[in-house]
This record gives sequence, structure tokens and C-alpha cells, in this order.
Amino acid sequence: MLIAYLLPAKKLCKESDLDKDVRNSNQSNGYRLINIDILLSELSQYVTCPNCNTKAVRKEKILYGLVSEFYVECYSCSTLSTFKSSPVIASGNDYEVNTRITYAVRTVGQGFCGIKHFCTAMDLPPPVS
Ligand SMILES: [Zn+2]
Repeated sequence: MLIAYLLPAKKLCKESDLDKDVRNSNQSNGYRLINIDILLSELSQYVTCPNCNTKAVRKEKILYGLVSEFYVECYSCSTLSTFKSSPVIASGNDYEVNTRITYAVRTVGQGFCGIKHFCTAMDLPPPVS
């Protein structure tokens, strides 16, 4: 009788874990490590100008540490849109991703050299010095 009682509880647990996994796969916030060549290549197939619906050209410029600025430019009507890969932190002194990598590397006992090694190994832009 006890086993019969536990089995449904175990099933419920597995189902709730599955629900959690599905929920997490639909989240689109936070940070990801994305190969920039793949991202820009895929975007170039789908990005069109919001004004004239012509295919737009996208470019990336490494702005500051791990922050990039992306440009979407339409050569037909000269519309130019830009966006950055990270928000600025509340104090307004730096971008969030640069603060996060400093904090993350410190939590594993490393300093600036650790950040540099991590960025080099991951083929990331150099960190802010
Ligand atoms: Zn346009």
C-alpha cells in the first residue's frame, strides 16, 4: 500500500522536472555564449529593413570588453539601427556583462589574469583592463 502511494508521487516529480526543463528551454533572457560568425550569418538571412523591407546589412564592432555593438544598415533607404549586447548596470559605470565576468571569475578564485585566460580560451574579445 505504501509503494502504491509513492509511485504516483515519483511520477509527479518527474513530470514537474520535465515541465521545468520545457519552461527553461523557452526562456530568452540572460546571457549565452554564441559563435558570432554563426549568429551574424543566420541574421543576415532574415534581417530586413523596417522601413522598406529590403535586406539589411549587419555588422558588429567590439565596443568595450565583452560588449559588442551591432549595426543593421539598409543601403536602399539609409536606415541605421544599432544595439549593444549588454545593458549598462544601474550605477551607469560599466556594462553588465563586463561586471558579471569579473564577479564570476572572482567566485572561482581567479583575478584579471583568469579573465584573460578564459577570454582567450573561449575566443572572446579581450576583457576590460
Ligand atoms: Zn530600408
